[in-house]
Amino acid sequence: MSKSSISTLERDAVDRVMKAEFLGMGPETQLFEQELSDYFGRHVSVVNTGTSAIQLCLQALGIGQGDEVIVPSITYLASFQAVSATGAVPVSADIDLSTGNLDLKSAISKISKETKAVIWVHYAGDPAGFNELEQEFRKHEIPVVEDAAHAFGSSIRGRIVGNLGSYACFSFDGIKNITSGEGGAVVTDNLMVKAYVDDARLLGVSGDSKNRFNKKRTWAPEVTIQGWRYHMNDVSAAIGRVQFKRRHDFFEKRKSLASLYDVNLMGITGLSTFNRNYTDIVPHIYPIRVHHEQRDALKSFLEIKGVQTGIHYFPCHLLKKYKAQYSLVNAEKIYLELLTLPLHFDLSTDDVKLVSMLIGEFFIQSKKQ
Ligand SMILES: *Cc1c(COP(=O)(O)O)cnc(C)c1O
Repeated sequence: MSKSSISTLERDAVDRVMKAEFLGMGPETQLFEQELSDYFGRHVSVVNTGTSAIQLCLQALGIGQGDEVIVPSITYLASFQAVSATGAVPVSADIDLSTGNLDLKSAISKISKETKAVIWVHYAGDPAGFNELEQEFRKHEIPVVEDAAHAFGSSIRGRIVGNLGSYACFSFDGIKNITSGEGGAVVTDNLMVKAYVDDARLLGVSGDSKNRFNKKRTWAPEVTIQGWRYHMNDVSAAIGRVQFKRRHDFFEKRKSLASLYDVNLMGITGLSTFNRNYTDIVPHIYPIRVHHEQRDALKSFLEIKGVQTGIHYFPCHLLKKYKAQYSLVNAEKIYLELLTLPLHFDLSTDDVKLVSMLIGEFFIQSKKQ
């Protein structure tokens, strides 16, 4: 369903770090951060995971115990855990069935005196609806933090994700649009947030990021905040820098495979595809919707034929830890219908045609029965 795509370029880059015999946060990390900063035209702090990027970004905004953060229920568990890691409570909101993104009305209805932020997830890489939601929450003076883990490379109306709002958090884990093995980044136009994350990723030691990039250590530290060991390391950064250089190839391949799925699945009754514009969107995953009574049967059918699929995602408001006292109709409905088809750089157009053909076959068979 998904995998990393690693060439000799990444292997050579890792070998370069091995030969330098400095594996911590050093020159490769500094360069990766600089290259991303040039790309976004923003401040960038790279960290060890996308989850910690979200946690540190929220903490930089002063969010913690006693606060609430609104989160769409249909997301990777990481969005919720990053919120609860700060001590704040994630408050589940519903999604828009046409995009899978946070529903504006539902999000507004969850605002309370304690609401300190909203997490927006660009589901499958699609930023549709983000600008409208951000504008609305600006009126309430509530910041919107983007979980942009799916959306590296996506754009809307000529602006790339990372440049839409004030706080975008990316993930570079093994299967994302680009990877550094594990990794993440906070992209922001807010210099205070950048400075906070730079310290918090290194145990809260004031100015330690700068010192380390100048090959110095901080022997007389000043610490005023709770910090973590969330920095990126040079092995990861070296992989990330190569992947970043290869991004155009990754983006084009993902876009063309998703478009090909769209075309090949169009005629099949029994399923629906999301209506996305793959000129602008770099898809991280390719979910379809199947009638809930047939979803699991289709999943098993494909499994038997050697095609791995996924379900993105189980609604987080149904988990014991995050259990909501209310229902979210769209999240609960779409969860039973979602099926994620294989999508990654090393997939061929023939693979996509084969998967599409198998799906067509399934629906012809099930109609006969
Ligand atoms: C991958 C992902 C994350 C977390 O990123 P990690 O780097 O794996 O910690 C957060 N949110 C979403 C939606 C993701 O897909």
